[in-house]
Amino acid sequence: MTEENHNGVCPKCKGSLRVQKADGTVQPCWDCLNGGKMDVHSKKLPDHNIKL
Ligand SMILES: [Zn+2]
Repeated sequence: MTEENHNGVCPKCKGSLRVQKADGTVQPCWDCLNGGKMDVHSKKLPDHNIKL
């Protein structure tokens, strides 16, 4: 496990599932997407937008 789940809240998006960048752009939190937090139905999301 990583420290991202230390308190059940993602430190990057603070549980909002969205991350606001310095320029004001809001994008989905890839950590949560990759971790399945947004997915209550346990289906796998495609990885085509996720950079490793
Ligand atoms: Zn997150």
